Amino acid sequence: MDLVIRGGTVVGESGPYRADIGIRDGRIAAIYSPGNAVEARATIDANGKLVLPGVIDVHVHMEIPFCGTVSSDDFASGSKAAAFGGVTTMIDFAIQAPGETLAEAVAKRKEVAAAKSAIDFGLHCGITDWSPATRGGMREVVEAGIPSFKVFMIYKQEGWMADDGVMFECFEEAASLGATVCVHAENPYLIDVFTERALASGRTDAVQHALSRPNFSESEAVQRAVYLAAMSGAKVYIVHMSASDSARVVEEWLACGYPVLAETCPQYLVLDNRAFEGPDGHLYATCPPIRFEEDCEYLWGAVAGGSIQVVSTDHCSFTRAQKDAWGGDFRKIPFGLPGVETLLPILMTHGVGEGRLPLERLVEVLCANPARIFGLYPEKGTLSVGSDADIVVIDPKRKKQITPGSLHMNCDYSPYEGDTLTGFPDITMQRGRVIVEDGKFLGAAGEGRFLERKPAGGDESG
Ligand SMILES: [Zn+2]
Repeated sequence: MDLVIRGGTVVGESGPYRADIGIRDGRIAAIYSPGNAVEARATIDANGKLVLPGVIDVHVHMEIPFCGTVSSDDFASGSKAAAFGGVTTMIDFAIQAPGETLAEAVAKRKEVAAAKSAIDFGLHCGITDWSPATRGGMREVVEAGIPSFKVFMIYKQEGWMADDGVMFECFEEAASLGATVCVHAENPYLIDVFTERALASGRTDAVQHALSRPNFSESEAVQRAVYLAAMSGAKVYIVHMSASDSARVVEEWLACGYPVLAETCPQYLVLDNRAFEGPDGHLYATCPPIRFEEDCEYLWGAVAGGSIQVVSTDHCSFTRAQKDAWGGDFRKIPFGLPGVETLLPILMTHGVGEGRLPLERLVEVLCANPARIFGLYPEKGTLSVGSDADIVVIDPKRKKQITPGSLHMNCDYSPYEGDTLTGFPDITMQRGRVIVEDGKFLGAAGEGRFLERKPAGGDESG
């Protein structure tokens, strides 16, 4: 063995158990009953610690041109920060530019990410310029290891919006390829109505960002997207679901036997619209918006109960200076929040620590389900013999208060400032190599691998 992790409590999908883990050639080579590991060249003492699979954040946007600027984390800073937060795999987006083929979009994005990412990564392919050629290009993308697409029901100005016809045809093609379609579900026409009303009443303050996108402007879009997906036979995955009404829509479809997949993000679980009060309110603008306390509680229940299968971050950081460019007009705030580094600690602290999620459910929604849904299982997302040794060791007693200087994202604020979190890893390991240890980064930009994924089969809901 190259390395053994001794004495830890391993968290599997069926619960925590005591075991030692042996690692050879970057993979998990053996799982031993406690104290029975063979000798190895190196040992990690995990007594009193939790040993988890590396977290898979399936929704991040590094260095993305958006809202007239570029998100402040590039693949180097973002992946490094991810490692500090126990994330060992991320999936970003290759979004098609007008006139570009899907293959060109993918090739460009892959090159940028591969040069800089310190952790393993995959890509989803964002479809924005629908045509017979685009449709024809989807197969090539799937064959290149990208069996997941994304369509946006909003963002007409950015040139990203898919209307219902485009969305339906995209679903049809994805269904024939066994691919999954991720959908940003909001209704742009309703948002326009409420935006106009806010402006007519002279209100441009930060909370209008949220109030102009009421819950039903999301849940209606979720309903429509899932309906169209069901009629086409496509696997649909609703990204960053924020409203309790949307979760109820998903639950109705699940009750009808349609296997819709859905994710939410930490910002929708632990923040509510009180965040928009005060001079920093605009820092919290993201799409869909942070909602109400009752939404948070409902979403926690959906995550625990299984109707939401994944928690990801939608990491899209902008600095204070970038956010401050809004000039008092909620329509001009760059939308997005930093979060890749705090995903696991937020769920450990406010989910597991506050009795909302058992540890094994945390491992399902952060590791196993993302891996299954996006074609990475069992190489990623589980601590099993043969899996990649992507491993996180956590001291459940260690706490850290979030301050502007305490995190590694290229962002000078955190939405969680002042919060005291457990769950920052003592050790993050990728394919058997320690990349974070005791607050030190030991990885390097460019060491992450592009993950060629396969269309997932079978039952991915869990
Ligand atoms: Zn996103």
